[in-house]
This record gives sequence, structure tokens and C-alpha cells, in this order.
Amino acid sequence: MNDNGSAAVAPASEALFTRARAVMPGGVSSPVRAFGAVGGTPRFVASARGSRVTDVDGRSYVDLVGGWGPAILGHAHPDVVAAVQAAVAASPSFGAPSAPELLLAEAVAGRVAPVERVRFTSSGTEALMTAIRLARAATGRQVVVKFAGCYHGHADALLVAAGSGVATLGLPDSPGVTVATAGDTVVVPYGDLDAVRAVFAARPGEVAAVLTEAVPANMGVVVPPVGFNAALAAVCRAEGALLVLDEVLTGFRVGPAGRWGLEGAEQGWEPDLFAFGKVIGGGLPLAAVGGPARVLDLLAPAGPVYQAGTLSGNPAAAAAGLATLAGLDHTAYTRLDATAEAVRELVSEALGEAGVPHRINAAGNLFSVFFAADEVTDYESAKRQDTAAFARFFHAMLDAGVWLPPSGFEAWFVSTAHDEADLAAIARALPVAARAAAGAAD
Ligand SMILES: *Cc1c(COP(=O)(O)O)cnc(C)c1O
Repeated sequence: MNDNGSAAVAPASEALFTRARAVMPGGVSSPVRAFGAVGGTPRFVASARGSRVTDVDGRSYVDLVGGWGPAILGHAHPDVVAAVQAAVAASPSFGAPSAPELLLAEAVAGRVAPVERVRFTSSGTEALMTAIRLARAATGRQVVVKFAGCYHGHADALLVAAGSGVATLGLPDSPGVTVATAGDTVVVPYGDLDAVRAVFAARPGEVAAVLTEAVPANMGVVVPPVGFNAALAAVCRAEGALLVLDEVLTGFRVGPAGRWGLEGAEQGWEPDLFAFGKVIGGGLPLAAVGGPARVLDLLAPAGPVYQAGTLSGNPAAAAAGLATLAGLDHTAYTRLDATAEAVRELVSEALGEAGVPHRINAAGNLFSVFFAADEVTDYESAKRQDTAAFARFFHAMLDAGVWLPPSGFEAWFVSTAHDEADLAAIARALPVAARAAAGAAD
């Protein structure tokens, strides 16, 4: 029996998790993996292929986590595996320039028009750290504005929660983040342009950058109000601050040029910096900061802003990213959007039939399900979801062979590998899970 009373057992995972907790904090390398939000034993994964993951107990699941984004072509896509194998055979790392990173930089710049220069890092966190350093160097200013509920990685300056009221000092969101660091970050409610304007008014000439997720997806998915990103770009331009558009999650997932390609390219606005990750690494550690030469060429050795990495632009990771981007043609995006819509319809129907209040927020193929009666438009409303209902739903789905993100504050991820059989498996799992969410016994 797990914490939620389900009869499913995973003895091999349980044994590994016990050992892992003895030698790794919480038994994991990144917190959400520990199932803290849903209870029970996290499944250790043995392998994954296409739309399926197999755990160490030999159970197979339809996967709606997708490695948190990179597995957009499905796990272990043959082209990605072949590209990585060839790169690794040539040696996994040189610590010197190599062609794959150049080709990937060209591929990124070729897809996202405002990107003239690309600097690779090993994680999205580093890409955002670099973006902030660049914005501060470019403007000679110190303050960073971010939105409550937007996640930009775990750098000190960005692990900051909202104080009450607008333009108050930020407070550290984690022990170990200093008050001084947090004080340079101002947090405002997502979607609130007046609050952004109020920060500029309260701290004239102090704001280096406004950071936003192109589509917030780390408090669950929240769809940007119409024109919001465009308005942010305009405010930043007028105030001499840089707009940092965090497309670590949305980049190359919601369209060939990310969310910017669906909005900015149409509406005629550009951010000053982009952050990419997840999809462009194809499942290996790789992320990037990109933007116009006027900003990016501030980076050493072209300019004075120091930034570096032993594994940055790693050839195997670049090869995985290139192979992944190569598989993302028009047909792929059409398929991703259709699959996501089909999953949403199945979930909505099952929850509706079980009488479970829910909201599904979607931006193209990116979506999440909130067990909430009211609209979710920001972090405050996201936090009003029924997390206990989600936990019951999650475990019933897992027991039935569908692997969802183990938190109601995460997006669900589809891949081009998901097919009719996967949709049928999801459809079979849903009625029982919906009744579990409703609080009824099976
Ligand atoms: C995942 C994510 C990050 C952090 O990337 P890591 O590679 O985990 O450091 C930053 N921003 C957004 C929007 C993300 O989804």
C-alpha cells in the first residue's frame, strides 16, 4: 500500500529509493522527482522508448512527462540516439570549439529571427544567470523584476518570493539566499502590467531587466493575457530595461520559433534576450542564452562580461539537440497540437462525468490540468487548486499505467511518438482516476 491507499507495489523502486535516501538528499537529484507533492514511492526508470517509460519493476507507462520537455520526438528517437552515439565515439568532450555547437547555434538563429548570437550553457539555470548578468552589464543597473510563480531556474537572484504589495523588497524563497540578493529582485503578480509600471515608477533608472516565461508553465500552465508579452516589451524599451523572454520550456516546443514565433513575429516585438533549454538539448545537458549581437557580444571573449563552462556547447549534447530540431517539422507541430488536444478532451470528459471541478489551461500543445473551480490566471489562483485531489488522480493514473507529472504545478508533455494506442490507454485509465479525484472509493 502506498500513502494514497493504492494496492500497487513497486518493490524494486522501493528498494532503490531506500538506498538512494541514504546517500542522496531526499533520494533524488532534483526535488520534484521524489513524489513529495503526491506521496508514495517514486518509480525508478530503467529505460524509455517513444511514448513509453519502463520502471525497474518492469512496468510500462504512457509517459506525459517527456523528461520535462526534451523528449518531444519521444524517448530514444533513433536519429537522436545515432547522432549522440557518433558524437560520443568521437570523444564526449574536447574543451575546444567543435562543429556541432556551431551547427546548433546556426539552427537556433535560423529559426528565431531576433537571435544573432548564441552562448551555450549546460542548464537553463545558467542561461538565466547569464541573461541577468548581461542585462545588468548592458544597462549599468541592478534590479531584476520577475513574476510570482514564474520559474527561471535555481539561481539565488531568482529564488525570491513576493513581498506583500508592489515594489516591496523581495524576500528569499530558500534558506541560503541572502536578503541582499533577494533585495535586488522585485516580484509582481503574473499578468499585472500596472504592477510592472509601478516598479519602474518606484525605482526609476534602477531596473536592469524584466524576466518572464513566454508562457508560464511552472505553476501549471497560465496563458499570457492577450498582448501581455508585447506590452512588456514596450514598457522595457521605454524604460531602458531589457526584456528577458524565458523560452527554456516553450522554445521549439510550442512552434518552430517558440512562443515568440507565435506572438512576437506576428505583432512586431522582440525581447532583448532569450533563454532556451530542454528541447534544444535533446535530453542531454544543454541550454542557451540568445539575442542580438549588441547584447550578446558583451560576453567574453568578445566583450568584458565573464561567463564560461567546461562542458558548455558539449558536442554530444549539441548533436542531440540538432537531431531533435531536425525532427521538428511542420507535421510534427501539427501532430503535437492534435495529440495534446485529444488528451485534454479525454481528461475533461472524464472529470466532467465524475463531477470534478477542473480547469485546463492550454497554449498550443502545452497544457496542464488544475483541480480548481475558478479560472487560474496567476500564482495565487494556481495555489487554490485541490492538491489532494490531484494526488489521488495522479496515483490512480500511475496504477493504471499513465505517468503524469507528480505535481499539480507542472505542465503535461506530449511527444510526436504518442499514438492512438496511447490515447486509448489514457482513456481507459481516466474514469477510475476521475472518481478517485472526486474522493470516491473505486
Ligand atoms: C526548466 C526551466 C528552467 C531551468 O532549466 P534547468 O535546465 O532545469 O536549470 C528555467 N526556466 C524555465 C521556464 C524552465 O521551464
